[in-house]
Amino acid sequence: MSKTNAILEQDTFSKADIVYLLQTEGEEKQKLFEKSRDIKAKYVGKKVYYRGLVEFSNICSKNCYYCGIRKANQNTERYNLTDDEILDAVRFSYENRYGSVVLQSGEISTPKFTKRITRLLKKIKELSGGELGVTISLGEQPEEVFREWYENGADRYLLRIEASDRELYHKIHPNDETHDYENRLKSLETLQKVGYQTGTGVMIGLPFQSYENLADDLIFMRDFDIDMVGMGPYIEHEDTPLYEYRDQLMPKEDRFQLTLKMIAILRIIMKDINIAAATALQAIDPIGREKAIKVGANVIMPNVTPGMYRDNYRLYENKPCTDEEAADCTNCLEVRVGLTGDEIAYGEKGDPAHYYNRRARMKADE
Ligand code: SAH
Ligand code: SF4
Repeated sequence: MSKTNAILEQDTFSKADIVYLLQTEGEEKQKLFEKSRDIKAKYVGKKVYYRGLVEFSNICSKNCYYCGIRKANQNTERYNLTDDEILDAVRFSYENRYGSVVLQSGEISTPKFTKRITRLLKKIKELSGGELGVTISLGEQPEEVFREWYENGADRYLLRIEASDRELYHKIHPNDETHDYENRLKSLETLQKVGYQTGTGVMIGLPFQSYENLADDLIFMRDFDIDMVGMGPYIEHEDTPLYEYRDQLMPKEDRFQLTLKMIAILRIIMKDINIAAATALQAIDPIGREKAIKVGANVIMPNVTPGMYRDNYRLYENKPCTDEEAADCTNCLEVRVGLTGDEIAYGEKGDPAHYYNRRARMKADE
């Protein structure tokens, strides 16, 4: 039996097993993908959930070294959608029977911002009669803010750990208290405690990142008992400090393949979570997200931000579909998801089964 087969037959993977799987190529890699495809079909079904993604503002108070909308980047035009524009995009998602929406922006921590989000959450609940699932991805916030948003209708929160290794985290962020690894980790713990369906993720193919780091990222997600993951390839942006290291990166196609392997392994080790096919995959391969669906992802986030603003929410280079309107996106996606053999679960919230299983386990332990 090949080493890959032997590993795939085990119930749990060691770090060394994961490092080995991350480096499989050719037939061995295909075996990994077959296994993750089977596990996905068995545990979460051949379904894809849609989340309408509203990137409502690129104003950010932070300076992450990799991100194109970091505060210090003067070459980006800043925008902030009005409440009506946001709610129109949400309504579009609801009317097109997307089960959920995601509100994402740069990180702002002010009482005004907190109140604005609370107001929006209430309105979203109203306009969909509570039917739409709501995910927010608004960075690190104090516990009382997380609580206020949860109590006003946010079901899920996405906060990527970006890199679970402290040292690597500090290499890709400024070393100051607003970019502190411990705070990020604490925020994730708080989200879980408050009751959110909690999501995290990492970038794949970062400068200074090793296979061991990536294996540790997957182990971090497992040990943290995370409900949802969105992870994608790191893509350099010329207006950021990390651009200096672009010659040290692996080719984009390799970052892409490595992301597919990360998704496949994660699906095998965390069978009942939701895994998003990150938009950054599509920046490398036009059918990148569909390829991710085939190897284990089960969530796609079609961009429903009004077209005129999309160009300015450039976290990385070559962001796809920045010149399209939401309706164009829907048509093109439907055809492409159809090609994966999975079905789009229209009108379903698509909560991760893991969330309920985790809470039931916690109750049993009390
Ligand atoms: N401000 C919030 C949410 C918006 S950023 C936050 O930081 O949590 C959303 C995600 O974009 C980040 O978590 C990061 O993982 C990703 N991102 C930023 N720059 C990127 C790049 N150059 N390549 C790939 N992903 C990037
Ligand atoms: Fe701001 Fe998020 Fe970009 Fe960091 S990753 S600079 S917090 S938008």
